[in-house]
Formats: sequence, C-alpha cells, structure tokens
Amino acid sequence: MTHIVVIGGGPYGGSVANRLQKTGVKVTLISRSETALLLPAMIRLPFHKDVSRVSVKIRDVLNPDVELIIDQVVNVDESQVDLGVHDPVSFDRLVIATGAVWDDPIAPHKYQQNGIQEYTKEIADLGEKANDIVLVGGGALGVELAGEYAYHFPEKSIILIHSEKKLLDASAIDKVRDSVASQLRGLKVKLILGKKAEIKGQSVFVDGEEVPCDYLIKTTGPKANPPVSSIKGLVNDKNEIIINSKFQAECNPKIYAIGDVTNYPKRGLVSRENWISIITHNLKEDIKGTSSYRTVDWPKQGAKSRSTFAVSVGPEGGAGQYILPFGCAFSLPKFAVVKAKSSTLFYSQLNSMFT
Ligand SMILES: Cc1cc2nc3c(=O)[nH]c(=O)nc-3n(C[C@H](O)[C@H](O)[C@H](O)COP(=O)(O)OP(=O)(O)OC[C@H]3O[C@@H](n4cnc5c(N)ncnc54)[C@H](O)[C@@H]3O)c2cc1C
Repeated sequence: MTHIVVIGGGPYGGSVANRLQKTGVKVTLISRSETALLLPAMIRLPFHKDVSRVSVKIRDVLNPDVELIIDQVVNVDESQVDLGVHDPVSFDRLVIATGAVWDDPIAPHKYQQNGIQEYTKEIADLGEKANDIVLVGGGALGVELAGEYAYHFPEKSIILIHSEKKLLDASAIDKVRDSVASQLRGLKVKLILGKKAEIKGQSVFVDGEEVPCDYLIKTTGPKANPPVSSIKGLVNDKNEIIINSKFQAECNPKIYAIGDVTNYPKRGLVSRENWISIITHNLKEDIKGTSSYRTVDWPKQGAKSRSTFAVSVGPEGGAGQYILPFGCAFSLPKFAVVKAKSSTLFYSQLNSMFT
C-alpha cells in the first residue's frame, strides 16, 4: 500500500493527513508536539491564560486510522524521515507542513521545552510586569498585538513602531490602513510611523533616541521552519521550501509542501480549503500514475496581489477588506470583523481547521 508521510500537525498538515487517509492509502503524521495551536488565537493567551482556547490535542482531531508519531525530525532525505527516538520512517510521498517560526508571545516552538502552561505564565508575566511595552513592526501581527495589550492594559504605555508611513503593507487598501491606525490611537497606542527602529539587546532607538521600553516585542514577521534535511535544493535563501503551483517541491516531485513553510507568496488560512483540495487531488493523481494535476494561481507580490483578510484591534475592534473576483477591493465594516474574528479569534472553529 502506498505510504504517505506528513510532517507537521497544524491546520495544513492535519487536514491533508485526514483527507488522504480517506482515499485508502497509509498515512503517517509526524508532529513534534501532541498539541496543535490555532495561531490567530495566540495573541490573547497572555490575557485569558486559557490554553483550551488556543490549542487542541492532535490525536483528537485525526482520523483514528492515521498513524501519529510524536517525535523530533532529525533528517529528511529522498526516501525516509529520521527521528530522534523512533525508527526511521520511509515514504512513497512526503508532505511537509511545518509552518513558520514566530517571535514571542506567540512562539509555538518555545513551549516545547517546558509545556504550554509554563510558556503561558512566562509571557503573561512579561506583560503584567512591564510599564513601557514597545512593538517593532506594524504589519498584521504588530497591529493585533498592540490592540490586545492596549485593550487589556489601558494604564500602560504601548508604542508601535513601523517603517512605513501607514500601518500594514501595500496589499491592504488605504481605508483599512487608516482605520487600524485610528482605532489604535483611540486605545492610546502611540504610533511611530515611517521610522526604522534600531534594536540593541532589549533597548530600542529611533533616530538615535532611546524609546522607553521594559518589554520589547518583535513583530517583524515569521520565518519559514522546514525540517532538517539533506535534500539538495529543497529550500531557497529564506529557508522556504521551493514549490511549484502543484505544491510539489521543485527539486523532487515526490515531496510536497504547503502552508507557511513554503515560498508560495500568499500566507494564511483564508484559501485553506482551495489549497488543500488541490494538494490532495494532485497526490491522488500522482499515486494513480495519472497526470491531470490542478494548479494554484501564483500571485504577484505587492499591491496587485491583494487578498481578503481581517485584523483585530483588541476584542472590540478591527478592520479588513474583501476582494471581489475581478480584483476590486472594499473595506469590511468594523462590526463584521469583530463578529467574524476579533471577538473569539476563531477558536470556536479550532476543530474544523483539521477536517
Ligand atoms: C497572530 C496571528 C494571527 C493570524 N491571523 C490570521 C487570519 O486572520 N487569517 C489567516 O488566514 N491567517 C492568519 N494567521 C496565519 C495562520 O495562522 C498561518 O498561516 C497558519 O497557521 C499556517 O498553518 P501551517 O499549518 O502552515 O503552520 P502552523 O500552524 O505553524 O503548523 C505547523 C505545525 O508543524 C509542527 N512542526 C513544526 N516543525 C516541525 C518538525 N520539525 N517536525 C514535526 N512537526 C513540526 C508545529 O508544531 C505545528 O503544529 C495568523 C497568524 C498569527 C500568528
């Protein structure tokens, strides 16, 4: 029987494993942790401290017939995955869905060491003890975290520094960029825009002047997190797995990759259903030996590659945009963003992320 191995039990790896298992192949999912995190919900963890609102046991959301191995991957080559404790696992096809590395306070790789409860306490303490919180990077993550800290700690100084003149980036329409700025100002966040922060240890400088800071949060963006591998040409200079529009690794068509670990220019979960259906379809074709593959559109970088998204600004605020099929963008009303995202950060949909 064909054996497909999936590495990474997040919303991409978990779903792909479940869907492939239904097609009658043997599926093994390798995860470094027994728990999967819903990343969008992590920004509120330092405040409610309830891990059940951000995480799920992977075994509970996997089809019973998917084999689950909890272990560290020590190497991946063209035919097998070497593990820290378990025997090597050989594969006919491999799917890599190991996501990205993010900084505190949403750094999932860190809770590996002492467990998620301990990590929660650590990041909650940092915020509670601080008086001057500085966030460097005003993309979606910086905006969302600044909104949370300002909402939950209205008495503290919160400063958000962003190198562009407007928050977010050019893929967001101006109305959305202006709205998040005005909502953050309404929560008393001080915005320093159009300036690059210089970070020296835990100190932050703008134009040579030190910014008061006793808790620095870097929100300059995630970095792809591929497993250790001896396969030549698997990753680019940003450590992203180089895939083609069929979700196959450019260097080896037996290896597939999906989600934040790849060089695909779009990130996130908005198009998850489409991407997962394409990769599972292609794997089925590949295994059958037929070749009516499906492909994903490869967007251009910059303003023209706009997509639908929403950012929270605390539990009661937020902004977002919707892109119509012919590319026209309009801003979403605040109440709709609050209802769809900011109030719960999707945690009620946690289990459905794995179907
Ligand atoms: C604060 C925040 C808000 C967000 N908001 C949105 C939003 O509103 N809309 C949206 O579409 N997207 C949003 N995103 C992005 C979205 O969460 C990610 O794009 C998505 O989680 C990526 O899924 P993934 O499966 O690729 O990676 P992950 O969710 O990171 O899962 C990867 C899994 O692989 C495991 N793993 C890693 N390395 C190894 C290894 N070597 N061996 C075995 N297992 C490994 C990890 O433990 C993890 O379980 C947000 C992200 C953040 C941080």
